[in-house]
Amino acid sequence: MFSKRIRNVQPSGTVMLSNKVKRLMDQGLDILSFTLGEPDFSTPPHIIEAAKEALDRGMTHYTSSLGMTELREAIARTEKQKNSMDCDTENVIVLPTKMAIYMAIQTFINPGDQVIYQNPGWVSYGPMITLAKGTPVPVKMRYDSGWIWDPQDIRDHITEKTRAIILNTPSNPTGSLISRDTQKEIVEIATEHDLTIIADEVYENLVYEEEHSSIGSLPDAFERTVTVSGFSKSYAMTGWRIGWMVASKETIKMVNKLQQHSLTCLPPFVQMGALAALENGSSCIDDMKEEFRKRRDMLIPLLNEIDGVSCEMPKGAFYAFFKMDTGFKSMDMAEMLLYKAHVALTPGSAFGSAGDGFMRMSYAASRENLREGAKRIAEFIAVLRK
Ligand code: GLU
Repeated sequence: MFSKRIRNVQPSGTVMLSNKVKRLMDQGLDILSFTLGEPDFSTPPHIIEAAKEALDRGMTHYTSSLGMTELREAIARTEKQKNSMDCDTENVIVLPTKMAIYMAIQTFINPGDQVIYQNPGWVSYGPMITLAKGTPVPVKMRYDSGWIWDPQDIRDHITEKTRAIILNTPSNPTGSLISRDTQKEIVEIATEHDLTIIADEVYENLVYEEEHSSIGSLPDAFERTVTVSGFSKSYAMTGWRIGWMVASKETIKMVNKLQQHSLTCLPPFVQMGALAALENGSSCIDDMKEEFRKRRDMLIPLLNEIDGVSCEMPKGAFYAFFKMDTGFKSMDMAEMLLYKAHVALTPGSAFGSAGDGFMRMSYAASRENLREGAKRIAEFIAVLRK
């Protein structure tokens, strides 16, 4: 009855789990949830005001499928100034970030094409590749060297069928960054084998000590790179479902066909909110980032104090990805923590084979909840070890 394509993919490890946790919380269970990567802050008021005003002005109809020109201009300006990307308005299409990744894969992948991405890596890359009838090729990052993605490991997985490399910096779930030198090597590999690079930069504004760098700004990289980013994580706008893609004009034309046959366009009042976000400077992002940094600095030592737990200090995004030496698989551990300790974490195995034995804890949650969450985990592990 159902297509092979849809039968071949599993539900999203992150979204499915958070639905389940919401159901349990609705039943009255006192669960602390650190599953979804979703800022607990409200969307800044100037953004909400701009959307409300747009609604009051009757902006409730279609816009261009590419997005409103003012917003595309603002995105191009931001990518140029902040990320040194050589782009202008025609290089931009407005769409939800997740959809941008989905559409980039649909645009470049033929059946049987292989796509390389990080392992552990975001839960949806593999299924999106499968939905395009491509073959997912997760390439392990090295935990012992701080979740480095070694270009030699990428080279070792290149075949005749490799068509694209997805790279996510800062990375979900590890919080590691892909260095400029590694990015240069990835461009070299892509040029040598004529590959498309899909750069998922949705956490670009959440880099704590170092600077974010966009692979698409490297010499000769822009034309073969599709850069994806958005408002969800930086501006606490997860429910607005808006982001963007920056790519060559030809790529944007192709993606626009998919947009026209699927979403048509994003709601104009949502686009107006997004425009206000970009036009009002970065102070609101900086404030939220500062708070995430403080939470990170508080949480990671608390986790490392727990017997059998070790956690690298993440350089970006808002996830603690920690190793748990308990002898249990991370999926079983997540179930036990949920039902016995009432703490909801995402099992590392949802992010690929290299994530088994790890748990992901989002620190986009209040300090009080993080402290209590770490305490519940510690108490549970103590009982388990008795
Ligand atoms: N990207 C977020 C996460 O990893 C939201 C859920 C999803 O898109 O997978 O938690």
